[in-house]
Amino acid sequence: MKHDAALPEGETGFDRVLAFALPQRDARGRVVRLGPVLDEILSAHDYPTAIRHLLAEALVLTALIGSLIKEDGGQLTIQAQAQAQEDVGPGIVDLLVCDYRGGEVRGYVRHDGERLAALETFPSLQALFGAGAYLALTFDLAATNQRYQGIVPLDGESLAEACQAYFARSEQIPTLIRTGVRWDGQHTIAGGLLVQHLPEGEEGRERLHVRIDHPEWEHVAVLAGSTRQEELIDPALSLEGLVWRLFHDEGEVRVDALSLLSRGCRCTAEHYASVLSRFPESEREEMRGDDGMISVDCAFCSRVFKIP
Ligand SMILES: [Zn+2]
Repeated sequence: MKHDAALPEGETGFDRVLAFALPQRDARGRVVRLGPVLDEILSAHDYPTAIRHLLAEALVLTALIGSLIKEDGGQLTIQAQAQAQEDVGPGIVDLLVCDYRGGEVRGYVRHDGERLAALETFPSLQALFGAGAYLALTFDLAATNQRYQGIVPLDGESLAEACQAYFARSEQIPTLIRTGVRWDGQHTIAGGLLVQHLPEGEEGRERLHVRIDHPEWEHVAVLAGSTRQEELIDPALSLEGLVWRLFHDEGEVRVDALSLLSRGCRCTAEHYASVLSRFPESEREEMRGDDGMISVDCAFCSRVFKIP
């Protein structure tokens, strides 16, 4: 997409990631919009509004950051966890887990519904997780069998802010992230934008002079920072249209092939059977129900497996 070319007629479409790059500004980015996939993931649970929004934002972040992984089979796991502390007690949300692999996303939230019901509709992150909570991003690169993990405190206004902090602290990559979530009473729509500065132009090269105040990055950050939440979740505005709206004055904007997102759960009866086989038969006997089977339910998709 050159700036003098006509705006391509992109499909509006949900559940897609669009990759883009501003080569003259040493920047790259991702835009994501989730629709039916969110409904599918959320329908496995009966979450209150605040939890639905929290998980929707986390899934958008998981897709934005997970789709940065280049190699096949690589996986990103985002985990937000409350810190059980003697003086403050556990968080209302004690665990949020999402992962991404090859375009498949899934996630769940463990929370205390009764304590949540006593709060306003949209409590702050701190009210949900309590003090001392943290966010961990784990990259599993299957091909090289490498695992990277970065941990940042969950002390900002949003999960997106914590992810920005992860890139600044753990990877020293200036990054701007925006997210938006909307629920119309029936469906959830969520969208996000991630833009980052890669001063050496290529990934994987040593970053010798990463500076937040790099003039090229400041320029990109101002443009990207003007994104409004409504634009991220506006079904009438395509992902290409959004990138175009933000960066049409740039000399060159490249957009890459779109990847489709789907809900992917990797739970199988075989997996649970193999986990249970490690328990002694006497313990397995205690776990069996009246039907003689052990019931195991997947935290992600709520499917129940009956294991003999
Ligand atoms: Zn599952």
